[in-house]
Amino acid sequence: MCLFCDMLEGKIPMDVVRETGQSVAFRDINPQAPTHVLVIPRRHVENLGALAEYPEELADVVALGASVAEEEGLEAGFRMVANTGELAGQTVFHAHLHVLGGRRMAWPPG
Ligand code: AMP
Ligand code: ZN
Repeated sequence: MCLFCDMLEGKIPMDVVRETGQSVAFRDINPQAPTHVLVIPRRHVENLGALAEYPEELADVVALGASVAEEEGLEAGFRMVANTGELAGQTVFHAHLHVLGGRRMAWPPG
């Protein structure tokens, strides 16, 4: 059972921003910045690194994230984040890229 697979199958609603044949971008339910969009591959793999086995799909996720950032007017700066593993804060084990922007970002991250 995977939350994002259930969303892709329409069992749970998602606030879709933009999609391609291989990926979907939708708003995070608990936004951490004025713009907080998640970009996921339609294929279920555990994390973004594992998606490198499918280079076209990995590129599609990253390109969709960049398109969303542009559409959301984040050219002054935004962050793409892929929490990987429990210690890094990953809670959904279906690959996803966070696109965060609309405020100044701190570094190093928490
Ligand atoms: P991570 O903690 O990196 O695995 O990211 C999972 C993200 O999924 C979190 O930022 C959650 O707020 C988000 N999330 C969980 N459930 C939903 C949902 N139903 N719709 C949209 N985003 C969700
Ligand atoms: Zn999944």
